[in-house]
Amino acid sequence: MPYTVRENLSIGNISDAARILQNDTVHSVTHILSVLSSASISFFSEWRPSISIPAKEITKVHVADAGAGAAKSALASDKLLYSLEYAGRDLKLVRMAVPLRDTENENLLDYLEVCIDFIDRGRKEGSVLVHCFAGVSRSAAVITAYLMRIERLSVEDALESLRQSCENVCPNDGFLEQLKLFEGMGFKVDHSSPIYKRFRLKALGENHLSGLRIDSSKLGADPGMPVEISSGAEETTKVENNRRPTYRCRKCRRLVALHEHVIDHVPGEGETAFGWNKRRGGNPFNKSKESECSSIFIEPLRWMKAVEEGALEGKLSCVHCDARLGYFTWAGLQCSCGSWITPAFQLHKSRIDISPITSVCFRMLTVMKILVIDLILHKPKAYRHLLHNVINQKTMKFQGLLWKLAVVFLLFEARLGVSIFSDLHHRIILFIIECCCIESVLLNAVIMLHKFCRVPY
Ligand SMILES: [Zn+2]
Ligand SMILES: [Zn+2]
Repeated sequence: MPYTVRENLSIGNISDAARILQNDTVHSVTHILSVLSSASISFFSEWRPSISIPAKEITKVHVADAGAGAAKSALASDKLLYSLEYAGRDLKLVRMAVPLRDTENENLLDYLEVCIDFIDRGRKEGSVLVHCFAGVSRSAAVITAYLMRIERLSVEDALESLRQSCENVCPNDGFLEQLKLFEGMGFKVDHSSPIYKRFRLKALGENHLSGLRIDSSKLGADPGMPVEISSGAEETTKVENNRRPTYRCRKCRRLVALHEHVIDHVPGEGETAFGWNKRRGGNPFNKSKESECSSIFIEPLRWMKAVEEGALEGKLSCVHCDARLGYFTWAGLQCSCGSWITPAFQLHKSRIDISPITSVCFRMLTVMKILVIDLILHKPKAYRHLLHNVINQKTMKFQGLLWKLAVVFLLFEARLGVSIFSDLHHRIILFIIECCCIESVLLNAVIMLHKFCRVPY
């Protein structure tokens, strides 16, 4: 017999579901949520060959169909997310089935949103039975998440509340851990949350180690490539991200990662069994130098060719200049602080520049570059005049600005091959430009350049 959890919501096992689907008129159930290892209705006949349940498909939704979130989901794109059908006598019941096995490393999180929506809708339209095979782990985990969401309960409180109705429930440890993450994300599965990113990376790592191929859709977009026209919502996040640090190859300045790709870890925390952890155990704020991280860890991105080719581990090299930037391994590695990062996509801080240059700055630099090229090609006299002024600092009024301009010019000269600089010189210029890349300064520089472009030479 199913156990009533709330009004119009009950939990049960496969026999309860089979009975209701066959012809039980005693129950008022109108919606069934099946959480079994197969979503197919034939699962019932495989379990008991005497059972045959009529069903008519409404829809089947795969991960790839589930909109923009699919690329960020830990589930493979071709995996079935859920099926929806009319089932039972006279096809009176609505059954949603999600394919989920009762194992600790099964991805429960990515099914929670569709399950919660179904339960919510079902309770409004009638009465819902959530069932799995034994009615102990999977169905209990789904209902626990549902109670957490609608009643704003912690995992413990929601589970305790569920046990009041059905004392046998006991989600497996992996599910409990994921429900904790669900709580940490504010009772929703938020793909942009660092909590979810870590979970997703771990899940991708497990998939990879078990021999599943990670298709490139699961790798993050290459920040060094031009972006497609994005929706308004994405634009908003971009503006917010403008002021966050970006990560570039130290040698050639190619963009290799954005702030949003970084997966943070608490220095020295995790599966470490090393002495220093114990030494500073007394005072968590007393972080010694040796616990400082010499690397950052990021999501796998599309410029990482070896990752895309399916390698287990290898060097991460800059796609532009081939400089070695770091290392990756799906099996995980230890950060200099002692934390184990699994899987690990590591960039050595000594090989990258963590740049405060915002994307607005970069757009302005691009405009400046166009203006400078225009000057050099079409108004060489005006260009020389400007350069002369800049270098001799005759225009005292704009001294500070002009010095900065000079640096920008020298950089462009170096890039354009107008003059040849040593590598060191180039690096110094890059360093100075990094220090003076302030939006307002650059804006003034752009205005100045515009004026020079209008000089009648
Ligand atoms: Zn670290
Ligand atoms: Zn490079």
